[in-house]
Amino acid sequence: MGVRVWWMRRDLRLADNPALRAAARDDASVLPLFVLDPALWGPAGAPRQAYLLRSLRALDDDLGGALHVRRGDPVAVLPAAAALLGADEVHVAADHGPYGAGRDAAVEQALDGHDVALVRTGSPYAVAPGRVRKGDGTPYRVYTPFYRAWGAHGWRPPAAGTGRVRWAGLDDTEALPAEPDLGTVVLPPAGERAATERWLAFAEADLDGYASDRDRPDRDRTSRLSVHLKYGELHPRTLLAELGDRPGHEAFRRELAWREFYADVLHHQPGSARAYLQPRLAAMEHDTGALAAQRLAAWQAGRTGYPFVDAGMRQLLAEGWVHNRVRMVVASFLVKDLHLEWTLGAHWFLRHLVDGDLASNQHGWQWVAGTGTDAAPYHRVFNPVGQGLRFDPDGDYVRRYLPELRGVPGPGVHEPWALRGGPPAGYPDRIVDHSVERTEALRRYQQLRR
Ligand code: FAD
Repeated sequence: MGVRVWWMRRDLRLADNPALRAAARDDASVLPLFVLDPALWGPAGAPRQAYLLRSLRALDDDLGGALHVRRGDPVAVLPAAAALLGADEVHVAADHGPYGAGRDAAVEQALDGHDVALVRTGSPYAVAPGRVRKGDGTPYRVYTPFYRAWGAHGWRPPAAGTGRVRWAGLDDTEALPAEPDLGTVVLPPAGERAATERWLAFAEADLDGYASDRDRPDRDRTSRLSVHLKYGELHPRTLLAELGDRPGHEAFRRELAWREFYADVLHHQPGSARAYLQPRLAAMEHDTGALAAQRLAAWQAGRTGYPFVDAGMRQLLAEGWVHNRVRMVVASFLVKDLHLEWTLGAHWFLRHLVDGDLASNQHGWQWVAGTGTDAAPYHRVFNPVGQGLRFDPDGDYVRRYLPELRGVPGPGVHEPWALRGGPPAGYPDRIVDHSVERTEALRRYQQLRR
């Protein structure tokens, strides 16, 4: 019996939840606690703040109203809650991010002073970051060998259900804050049920075709599970357990492994959330000053004059989500066509993405910028027109997000400057010439090699 705290962070679900199982073992009653930590809440950006609140409300419904919310620094909140409750254990899924790992160490120490244990069970990953290593014990720096070793390591099956848990309560639960103003952003439904429904719908309709469709933003047939994985409304283990050997299944497993790979890289090199994974490239010459600021603003607003780039940036502002192929193209454009530092783009993404995740975002950016884990780095320069013609061949994706171009039929929409009369009214001219800037990007890269 007894009473314990289940402190949830990125595991806002009841199913397949080893930390909750550990908290509820031996029929203990459990306080389901969420701490709104100003250090995470402040920088989150409106889409993530709103989504988190919706997810917490959905979880509270599933808990029959038992969710306990406190605001403040977890180092102070956890010992106080445990003392009020008379709990001797606080249960969590381990956090391997730079902030989370440091916070948990500090909370552990504070709890220890009150004879309360912080018990870590599981993590938001199928294989905990840090576990997959080369034969000589060092971490992987390249994805493909990591993927092989990760698959060979394997993962546990989904955790069994907890049965009926006796939820404990404390009197002083705080109200969730009001939702921030989202403007016109439309977010997907939040919560464990919505996540499961999304997974089932994707598995039924799109998983088999995923290997060929995943790169086509016009078809929009990826899973859109990133936000659900971000908040732990679903665990990747639950998904992996249902995947077989068909090409679509294999391709989907490979994508889940990218998430695990980047978490592993960040775990071993926490500084890489901000610093260049390849320090040599930190000396790259970047544009600054008024023109650079103007170009950054055009990129942020989706007004570069390159439709595939602009559609991606408008999708970000409309949905808080962008298709992976387009994330790569817009990131490449910022770094290699506008010669701006990747950190500017990564920061903008984290403010606007509802699935904004430090490991996947910073390393997605570093990969594209050629400063990260990509084995063939800087000279890969995405051509924004070529990418559009290849992955949005009829221009449907572009027209979906750029109303100014809706009257332009077919693939010609990718090159509005080539239309008779130039770009339609309201749509900007190209702010740079890709072929010129590509040469310039390569020149700057060559300088570093001297
Ligand atoms: P699906 O294609 O259905 O893939 C299934 C799952 O696999 C995703 O939900 C995600 O968890 C994982 N995954 C797929 N591709 C990647 C990848 N390249 N890296 C890491 N995980 C991947 N993903 C985030 O979750 N948060 C971010 O902040 C983020 N920022 C990115 C920034 C850049 C510059 C780039 C190039 C990629 C970024 N990604 C990020 C990775 C990827 O774009 C998204 O995970 C994916 O688009 C989410 O859509 P989906 O769920 O439909 O993906």
